[in-house]
Amino acid sequence: MNTASPEHYDVIIVGAGMAGASLACALTRPGGAGQAAPSVLLLEAAPISLDGPAQQPGFDSRSTVLSASSRDALERLDLWSAIAPDAEPIVQILVSDQGRFGGVRMNAAEAKVPALGYVAENTALGRGFNQALLCSDRFTLRANTRVRELKPVPGAMQLLLENSNDIMSAALVVLADGGRSGLAAQLGIEQRETSYEQSALIANIACALPHAGRAWERFTPNGPLALLPLPDFAGEHRCALVWTQPQAQAEAVLALPDAEFLARLHAEFGYALGAFTKVGKRALFPLRLTLASEQVRPSLALLGNVAHTLHPVAGQGFNLALRDTLALAHTVRAALVVGESPGAMRHLLQYQQSCASDQELTIGFSHHLVSLFSSNKPGRGLLRQLGMAGVEHVAPLRQALARQAMGYRRRRVDLE
Ligand SMILES: Cc1cc2nc3c(=O)[nH]c(=O)nc-3n(C[C@H](O)[C@H](O)[C@H](O)COP(=O)(O)OP(=O)(O)OC[C@H]3O[C@@H](n4cnc5c(N)ncnc54)[C@H](O)[C@@H]3O)c2cc1C
Repeated sequence: MNTASPEHYDVIIVGAGMAGASLACALTRPGGAGQAAPSVLLLEAAPISLDGPAQQPGFDSRSTVLSASSRDALERLDLWSAIAPDAEPIVQILVSDQGRFGGVRMNAAEAKVPALGYVAENTALGRGFNQALLCSDRFTLRANTRVRELKPVPGAMQLLLENSNDIMSAALVVLADGGRSGLAAQLGIEQRETSYEQSALIANIACALPHAGRAWERFTPNGPLALLPLPDFAGEHRCALVWTQPQAQAEAVLALPDAEFLARLHAEFGYALGAFTKVGKRALFPLRLTLASEQVRPSLALLGNVAHTLHPVAGQGFNLALRDTLALAHTVRAALVVGESPGAMRHLLQYQQSCASDQELTIGFSHHLVSLFSSNKPGRGLLRQLGMAGVEHVAPLRQALARQAMGYRRRRVDLE
């Protein structure tokens, strides 16, 4: 056992996935006069290097839609320049309900922005984030380091590491461990889970025609199907598929030979992209809404998936986490400016309050979208059709929806 005083920081972040990595950059970015940046340690269980693909589990074969407001935020955090070359702008979103007339089209030109959002493969995000983490000298990064236990002590939180006698402590520990490490559970924080009994099947699809910056979201009786524009690669036009289906059906479709898989996809989507010519590696993600019973405690805050894991239907999980991240960084710096601990409940409650309505609206939006569009209950189909026709034909409604998709407007969208 190490008996020396623990290594102490203002903030220790557990987990260098997208949420934790963004927070390290947000906390330590150069501030205004008199704004001393906090001392920050970022701990990550996976190894991090620029040789080969990123090893953190979140930087897998999925793709992520970054809203226009997330792009602005990543730019301010000096993360965007490393991501931009691999990010495809979305200039039009087409939402439709399979087998029914009507649909909604949202256009970047109508919203007077260069793009409604951007799509990047998580492997490319991993390269960009890790490059920024390894190049920054504003915080300390310890990769290949798994936190075993958290212990509340007066005015701080202590961390015990796996395979090490080192003890660390911080005025504030931010858990950004993705919710699967069990650290929140050790502290008695419950993860309240609602299973959608659906899985998202993801894969990259090569297609004969260029996507021209269009993103499709098609609601089918089995669940939503999204095709998102990706940058061309090796002369091929590509889209990222996120195909939500009931669990057993998703497993069956996952196992189909390539030609049958593409035929099934054509049957659901049609030929707006010409023939689908190739499907890349397929993977399944079981879908659930998970909400932590507490997001703050003295010297502790939960961020990203460990605080809230959303259905990916509206592509909001990381976008919401990034808005939380900016609010938390602001709170920490504001506490330090007045000489107070960033782990004091007074500040953490302010942080929580500043995020509450955005979290409620964003989580509610994704959740109600799933229940409205994945349901065949009498009346829901008509409601969907009326809703879409209304949005399509009323320009201000369409613009409001586009602003929601871009992450610029956070207001209640009650579709029930
Ligand atoms: C199919 C699908 C599609 C999605 N599409 C979108 C989208 O289009 N737009 C969007 O905004 N969101 C999307 N999301 C959500 C998005 O992927 C998540 O919000 C995001 O990845 C959350 O990242 P995170 O950093 O919270 O967690 P993770 O990525 O899980 O990161 C946690 C990190 O903590 C580390 N760690 C864990 N335990 C420990 C420990 N004990 N000690 C040290 N380190 C530890 C892990 O190694 C990992 O690197 C999608 C999700 C799914 C499933």
